[in-house]
Amino acid sequence: MTCRCQKLAHVVAAFLILVLPAALRAQVVPAADHHMHLQSPRAAQLLNQDATFKPGEQEPPEQPNTAKDMVAALDAAGIRRGTALSDAYRLGSPFVHIPNEAEEVNAENDWTLHQVERYPDRLVGFCSVNPIRPYALAAIDYCYQIGLRGGLKLHLANAKFQFDNPVQIRALRQVFRRANHLRMPILIHLRSAEKWDARQGIQTFMTQILPLAPDVPVQVAHLGGWGGYDRITDESISTFIEECDAQPKLCRHLYFDIAAIVLPPSAATAPPGSDNRLLYDEQKDFTDGPQRLADNLRRIGLGRILFATDWPVEAPEQYAQRLRSNLRLSPAEIDQIFSNLALYFNQNK
Ligand SMILES: [Zn+2]
Repeated sequence: MTCRCQKLAHVVAAFLILVLPAALRAQVVPAADHHMHLQSPRAAQLLNQDATFKPGEQEPPEQPNTAKDMVAALDAAGIRRGTALSDAYRLGSPFVHIPNEAEEVNAENDWTLHQVERYPDRLVGFCSVNPIRPYALAAIDYCYQIGLRGGLKLHLANAKFQFDNPVQIRALRQVFRRANHLRMPILIHLRSAEKWDARQGIQTFMTQILPLAPDVPVQVAHLGGWGGYDRITDESISTFIEECDAQPKLCRHLYFDIAAIVLPPSAATAPPGSDNRLLYDEQKDFTDGPQRLADNLRRIGLGRILFATDWPVEAPEQYAQRLRSNLRLSPAEIDQIFSNLALYFNQNK
């Protein structure tokens, strides 16, 4: 009897050693979702009014996304913090024509501030603007004055930014300099076009733009791509790895978010022209993509990788599960990424 009990105790102990750590690891939830979008009812209305989709493009009409919706999505995943990005940059995009654009941009940043103020312990609000508009610096100053100082979101595809245009480079340098002066961290979506010379673009960024913001964290969205993991995203992150190896000091405050990188299985059969289908088509022939993604995450350093979703594009709960099951990283490595928390949450003003 005693003997059998001992045997049982050994079995239980073995079970605890082998199974429990894995179970505990599975309970690690991301410390924050570092890339989420707010959108006011006003912005949704303006963007819908001006909807000029190309033939074949299929995207549903814009819907407002409030802080309440955002916090509910975080709660569903058990995630405490979120980076709440103003949608103002979209109102300044050359893809749309918004009357009184500069005023509407300020109004959207205003609305964003009031939204995040409802959840000061949960959300950090980021100002946003098209950095190559003539009013860009004034809009950033406006954010600072009203108190929307969590950071600054820039989206170079939405701005149709040209990396070979010296006037636009100068404008972006001024924006980086101003954000650094105001101590506003920067979240930047770099990939500017479908056909994009990632190597040249990242080298331009590293030599001419990033040095202007030495004192604030800079978060590169989508690992330097624009969602999914295609050859251009691979080239982008690979160039960052080379540049950071060569100049570690320049990369001291550099982070990468993993928003919308691992596509849902449904992307393969999504309607032609939809964002997910376009992303799927861009990467479907890149068969060693998943392994290169895991290798490159390790090479750039897991401490630099921030969990992020691009909500409402992805729901944090599902996306966290998808990363656990699809990324070719160990559970401990996924835990490390999920535990990373951007410094701007602690500096919250
Ligand atoms: Zn985004």
